[in-house]
Amino acid sequence: MVTKFLCDAMLARFARYLRAAGYDTALAGNAVADREVLRQAVDEGRWLLTADRKIIEHKAAQGRVVMLPHGSLDAQAKVLDMHFKMDWTGQAFSRCLLDNALLIPVSEPDMQGVPLDVQQSGETVLQCPTCRRVYWRGSHYRRMMGRLRNWQED
Ligand SMILES: [Zn+2]
Repeated sequence: MVTKFLCDAMLARFARYLRAAGYDTALAGNAVADREVLRQAVDEGRWLLTADRKIIEHKAAQGRVVMLPHGSLDAQAKVLDMHFKMDWTGQAFSRCLLDNALLIPVSEPDMQGVPLDVQQSGETVLQCPTCRRVYWRGSHYRRMMGRLRNWQED
């Protein structure tokens, strides 16, 4: 996917959903100045997503920032749909929700921590090469996927 995002710290929860959808999404730190956040967006070619109205007033924000509403994930997704041709499900669950790294097939030793029924089902189990977290289609996955499907259909 070509469109890359940088979420401000207030949008941490939404950033996880963008990553779940497969979008390359960075998350700005809590204490980072607006100026720095904007610089990161420009340097890395990312759209800055923010719920902070102040940041729009910066000169560097021009054509680089999309304002999202506070609170509801559904409302935030809707606004993003108005700005971009979002594909919420095409690349779903290809990135780590925590650190944005692209997932790879799980290594044999780390397969040990996966529930036996999942191991035996033959489904693809993925792993983050950075934090080593393991991903499979459990209940958490189904909940997030359900929401992404809704956004795709809307
Ligand atoms: Zn990770």
